[in-house]
Amino acid sequence: MKISFVGSGYVGQVNAAGAAHYGHEVILVDIDPKKVDSLNKGIPTIFEKGLEGLLQELVLKKKTLRATLDLQQAVHATDISLICVGTPDKGGMIDLSYIQQVAKGIGKALKTKENYHVVVVKSTVVPGTSLNTVNVLLEQYSGKKAGIDFGLCMNPEFLREGVAVEDSIHPDSIVLGTQDEKTKKIMREMYAWAEESKFTYVGITAAEAIKYAKNSFLATKITFANEWANFCDAAGIDAKEVLEAIGADRRISPMFLRNGPGYGGSCFPKDVNAIVHAGQVRHSPFRILEEVVAVNHTQYLHLIDLAQEKIGSIARRKVGILGLSFKPETDDTRESPALRIISYLVSQGCEIKAYCPQGMEMAKEMLEERRITEVNYMNSAEECIKDAELVLIPTDWVEFKEIIPKITVPTFIGHRSLVNPDDYANVYALGYPKR
Ligand code: NAD
Repeated sequence: MKISFVGSGYVGQVNAAGAAHYGHEVILVDIDPKKVDSLNKGIPTIFEKGLEGLLQELVLKKKTLRATLDLQQAVHATDISLICVGTPDKGGMIDLSYIQQVAKGIGKALKTKENYHVVVVKSTVVPGTSLNTVNVLLEQYSGKKAGIDFGLCMNPEFLREGVAVEDSIHPDSIVLGTQDEKTKKIMREMYAWAEESKFTYVGITAAEAIKYAKNSFLATKITFANEWANFCDAAGIDAKEVLEAIGADRRISPMFLRNGPGYGGSCFPKDVNAIVHAGQVRHSPFRILEEVVAVNHTQYLHLIDLAQEKIGSIARRKVGILGLSFKPETDDTRESPALRIISYLVSQGCEIKAYCPQGMEMAKEMLEERRITEVNYMNSAEECIKDAELVLIPTDWVEFKEIIPKITVPTFIGHRSLVNPDDYANVYALGYPKR
């Protein structure tokens, strides 16, 4: 099939590569000329394991994937367009401006297109958006009718950054929200390579809701683990023992049951905020999720509290920060607890050196946007810990396992996966009451 992905960020690039990998002819669309240029050279603009190799093969060798700035041409040249633009947080609400812009653009293109075209909302949007915003604009700008002249589908994205390529090629589940059989059939054809057992067929609004229900459940589970770890710290209990034991119960499962300095990233924080807001607007508040947001907001402080409990005030100290991305194996630092920690340390007059295997560029950009320019970005973990009075490791990149034995100053880690704090006199971890 011929498929266009509109918006060439994490979701667009990874899904476009996945679709071309399965034999479709794919066009990526973006408004950023630098992105389009880079993608046409087979160079991803994000860090995801396996993506560069895949793009090199698909763009340069097989020539089944290309990028363009021209949305109209891309819609005309394809049978399906998947909307993958951002839906960021705007003061606790969802910002639909990118979605609206793209829906208008696709609508204009549909006006002059003869063949049936399916428009798919892949971006995360609050329930009601696909029908009340996207479809209204598509019909208005095309002069055509959904279900008759073109198809509308909501196909939420569940990829996990860090393993996104793998998730796109071997997804756990595929949700298709449609309102007519023809569109459902075309979408099933697009995913012809996937087993039937992976599919859930629902209505458009239910598909939107499923995405939020999943993310808010996982954010709640992480927050549950974090609050238990905070309690375990206070009560002198090893949180890892407790969380692993309850995770062994199949009704609970060990996934997303690890404590740390808080959830972050481009999805959980904004999605939980957006659905909390949607609940308030509909007079059906999500009280649990309101608390999840509040607890997560201050969870990063527990790492700082742990440090102050062991070494006294950290004000004006020299601090090494290892790990800036919100989790390992990604360059994404959006809503990363590490950046919250840095903002706090800067407010306390600390001298900061920071290092992250992939997240340096985005972290620098995001901190500078907040006028935080005092951070020294180092080229290696070794340089980062040099002369530090203490080291904080909010993100558990595996490669930090090698540096930890070389650190001689007090070191505070957000996750227990890196090392056993008992093996080092100077290493302390959240949820581990080492006295
Ligand atoms: P992103 O910010 O990385 O990428 C969005 C892209 O859209 C950017 O390249 C931007 O230049 C482009 N864009 C903006 N306006 C455009 C326009 N008018 N026409 C064409 N391109 C335009 O976003 P993302 O992380 O890929 O997320 C996209 C959506 O998918 C969001 O709704 C997000 O919540 C959802 N999602 C993201 C993930 C994830 O892990 N990143 C996972 C699941 C769902």
